[in-house]
Amino acid sequence: MSTNAEWQRRSLASLWHPCTQMQRAAAVPPLPMVRGQGPWLFDAEGKRYFDALSSWWVNLFGHADARIAAALKDQLDTLPHVMLAGCTHAPAVELAERLAARTGGALGHAFFASDGASAVEIALKMSFHAWRNRGLADKQEFVCVRQGYHGETLGALAVTDVKVFRDAYDPLLLRAHQVGSPDARQARAGETAADVAARAAAEVEALFQERAGRIAALIVEPLVQGAAGMAMHDVSYLKALRALCTRFNVHLIADEIAVGCGRTGSFFASEQALPVGTSDADRRAAWPDFITLSKGISGGFLPLSLVLSTDEVYAAFLDEDVARGFLHSHSYTGNALACRAALAVLDRFEQDDVLARNAAQAEVLTASLQPLWQNDPRVEHPRRCGMIWAFDVKAEHAGGNFAERFHLAGRQRELLIRPIGRTVYLMPPYVLDETLSPWLAQQVMATLQDVLDQPDADRTHQPPTA
Ligand SMILES: *Cc1c(COP(=O)(O)O)cnc(C)c1O
Repeated sequence: MSTNAEWQRRSLASLWHPCTQMQRAAAVPPLPMVRGQGPWLFDAEGKRYFDALSSWWVNLFGHADARIAAALKDQLDTLPHVMLAGCTHAPAVELAERLAARTGGALGHAFFASDGASAVEIALKMSFHAWRNRGLADKQEFVCVRQGYHGETLGALAVTDVKVFRDAYDPLLLRAHQVGSPDARQARAGETAADVAARAAAEVEALFQERAGRIAALIVEPLVQGAAGMAMHDVSYLKALRALCTRFNVHLIADEIAVGCGRTGSFFASEQALPVGTSDADRRAAWPDFITLSKGISGGFLPLSLVLSTDEVYAAFLDEDVARGFLHSHSYTGNALACRAALAVLDRFEQDDVLARNAAQAEVLTASLQPLWQNDPRVEHPRRCGMIWAFDVKAEHAGGNFAERFHLAGRQRELLIRPIGRTVYLMPPYVLDETLSPWLAQQVMATLQDVLDQPDADRTHQPPTA
């Protein structure tokens, strides 16, 4: 049996790891994982780690979930993949139908891809092209929100505002308008999160007033800006964006790649901004024009992403002229295995009452975190949205190189956890229970203590985020 050290040596010699300064990789060698079960990952020496970030936010029901695996084994023996141009298959059709139903029919057209960034590219292209097909070819600009993250291909990076990912490539990127973030942490004395949201929305209104004739779409991460460090905002921001986009004829793209699939407490985060007690037509009109989904949709098993769009967008492409169609494609578009995994994920939501169960279990973890939440003078902005918990360690306590030090200390306490800058966050799989939650909270608090007890390490190195 190979040991951790052997795999680490071979990995560093042959792999280029994502989001990693490889010169630094030897100091933080990758953990060689050989098996996953529930929230646990096991390394080559049998040590276990709790996957506190759901493997970059993709895993929903734990590793090697038996029901998703069984669905995949069946699909594997039947139809693993077929191209989606000129052919179709049940997993893709059923997935599109079931997601459309979850939007009450508001977003009834699904376009598939494999990675989140590709879905963002598709939504941007679709928006521009839909306006162009409708005779509004001047609408070629995009608006994005400060601290937003939408992926790292060139188009997605152009609407992303996370310096470490973006700055080196800035000369290559499309110019996009940036508007202020509604991040509730910016509240001034006496202000609420809704006040911050109103200020951020006013900035969008001013921009639209001046420029809407040239703007195709605004893209936003609803409720939680993930990669910026779990920056959370008031739902009134989303309501204001919907109203402004409707009034000024601008598409609203909700990037739910991280926040979709129950992460914020509802299946889609956008649902929380819908009006209640109104007509079906009013409710339908309150959805975004596009939703991008990826990450959790296939339960952490296979790459899958998709863009949901409205009848209105879809209709803008219907024409005898081929070139007015949306001709975008990827080789593995609508991969049958990935779609089948997603169907198994939706089955879970329907059969296990996942959202209600999460709501109850989230209370247990929140209660277990109270020592940090209530009265730890080293901590600021403790916050939660659905199944996402985050807090910031005050700069004067965090010291240099905090994220890397916390991550390494976490490994010693059976935690796989990666802070973003000074923000420690938990985004666990939906398998928390009365035993795991107190244990997890305890380990996080103990890890924090370990890190803050250390003498300040190398202050000059800037660790990567995410
Ligand atoms: C992760 C993420 C993406 C990019 O998805 P990839 O699969 O990594 O390309 C886009 N938007 C948001 C909000 C994300 O969290």
